[in-house]
Amino acid sequence: MPDVSLADVAPSTHDVVVIGAGPSGSSCAYWLADAGWDVVVLEKKRLPREKTCGDGLTPRAVRQLADMGLEDAVAAAGHRYDGLRAVGFGKEMELAWPAHPTFPSYGYTITRFDLDALVAAHAARRGAAVVFGAEVTEPFEFVPPMRDDQLGSVSGVAAVDGVTGESTVVRARYVVVADGANSRLGRALGASRRREWPMGMALRGYWTSPRHDDRFIESHIDIRDAEGNVVPGYGWVFPLGDGRVNVGVGLLSTDRTWKGVNTTKLMEAFLAQLAPSWGITEASCLGPATGGKLPMGLSVGPHCGENVVVTGDAAGAINPFNGEGIAYGYETGRLAATAVANALLGNDPRALESYDERLAALYGDYFKVARGFVRLISDPSVMQACVGVGMRSEWLMSKLLAIMANLLRPDDLGAAELGYRVISSLARSVPDGALESMLTSFDARAAARAAAH
Ligand SMILES: Cc1cc2nc3c(=O)[nH]c(=O)nc-3n(C[C@H](O)[C@H](O)[C@H](O)COP(=O)(O)OP(=O)(O)OC[C@H]3O[C@@H](n4cnc5c(N)ncnc54)[C@H](O)[C@@H]3O)c2cc1C
Repeated sequence: MPDVSLADVAPSTHDVVVIGAGPSGSSCAYWLADAGWDVVVLEKKRLPREKTCGDGLTPRAVRQLADMGLEDAVAAAGHRYDGLRAVGFGKEMELAWPAHPTFPSYGYTITRFDLDALVAAHAARRGAAVVFGAEVTEPFEFVPPMRDDQLGSVSGVAAVDGVTGESTVVRARYVVVADGANSRLGRALGASRRREWPMGMALRGYWTSPRHDDRFIESHIDIRDAEGNVVPGYGWVFPLGDGRVNVGVGLLSTDRTWKGVNTTKLMEAFLAQLAPSWGITEASCLGPATGGKLPMGLSVGPHCGENVVVTGDAAGAINPFNGEGIAYGYETGRLAATAVANALLGNDPRALESYDERLAALYGDYFKVARGFVRLISDPSVMQACVGVGMRSEWLMSKLLAIMANLLRPDDLGAAELGYRVISSLARSVPDGALESMLTSFDARAAARAAAH
């Protein structure tokens, strides 16, 4: 990959500057470069680099990588797996990924160290100028938004060279903000997170394991806090196929109840409940666990301004059902590329509004249902009863897996799909927050307990 510096890209005004070379930034840059636009990516780290993640790719993410022509490379560097082993309340079941007309019926695990470098290099090969060690510090010539539902506009960004400390302005007609969960640039342009919507916290570490090449990723749905309550979230063991497994816990917080939970303690308790066959011990631990935030359900907005768009975690695009964000990073990056390319092609910045429309059309109802679900399972007794009911039926669990990974077939009209579609059309017809209230106002505890008996 060519070594591009800030000095190389500073002299001209580019079509697009993308901030961040994670999944959303690199996919956006790839699709823009593929369409022939002059695109610069500014990334504060030098790739390959570690990124705290579970390293799990679902069929949705695989589809995006295949569309970029990267599946062979991912298969060579990663570990292909067939489905999810759900574990809880003393039971376990192996659920294969469903057959689907659009998505493959397998996933991969691959470290973000390898994956992000691979996609960034691919974007560079297509023609994007990728600058590593360039930390964007502020917008350049920021004009505040005219409307509340818009971000401000900019003429470019200022970035600092990680080695020399020198600040340089990089100018562009359009700016894509793909700087992750903390999104410094998104906040500077006027984006904020809806605090009443769910947020995830997760922690992960690596261990060597004799089961490193297991064909199923494992998800434990009965992780518990210090008081023994089942908490809304899950623990995972994702085999990496290279001698290691990625082990972690994720917690969903919707209200004060779960804000105080210590994820380090949750992780310790989870490690203790894992089957000895995984070989997770102090001796097999490869280093301290690291954590991060998971902004979800498109909770961060607005998503565009006159000449800026926000993608991936910076837009809070993680799926609240399962904490998956890589696929949504690739998808939102690609959607942003399409909107920006249309704006450039027609010389009309209003084309960026189509980005917001596509986000709403693709994820609006689904994320609304997911947020309602998260609110519902925040009640420990509902969570416990739901998991108890689910773990009694493999059919139900496989339907839930398809719904939670956003892999429902458009042509399938079984009872589970129909049930989901009824809730989803209900979500469409009620304002934000109303579905959550409806789901939580009926006596959820009683209903769940009744179903469990
Ligand atoms: C513990 C944990 C486990 C997870 N497990 C999974 C999983 O198994 N599967 C899954 O699909 N998702 C998982 N996620 C979510 C997933 O990691 C994110 O959704 C995904 O990384 C989002 O991609 P992104 O490109 O939007 O942001 P990021 O991947 O965060 O990329 C942002 C990039 O921008 C760069 N950057 C930031 N600020 C600046 C700046 N000022 N200037 C220049 N560059 C900047 C960063 O260095 C980074 O490279 C997990 C998250 C956590 C915390």
